[in-house]
Amino acid sequence: MNGIKHLSYEVLNRIVERRISSDERVWADRHLARCGVCRSERDWLERIRVYPTPFPTMPPLIGST
Ligand SMILES: [Zn+2]
Repeated sequence: MNGIKHLSYEVLNRIVERRISSDERVWADRHLARCGVCRSERDWLERIRVYPTPFPTMPPLIGST
């Protein structure tokens, strides 16, 4: 049995935060190179990291009356 081990959320998080160890990085890069699933997960994490709130909270309607 050799099941494919996808990158965990934790590892992907470390990648986008540049906190991943070099050993892990090599393994993760190799996996990302051939795994579209994990690549899109990482891209998604990068996106939410840059834009933490895709829908910013409505500004309070102070003084609009
Ligand atoms: Zn994967």
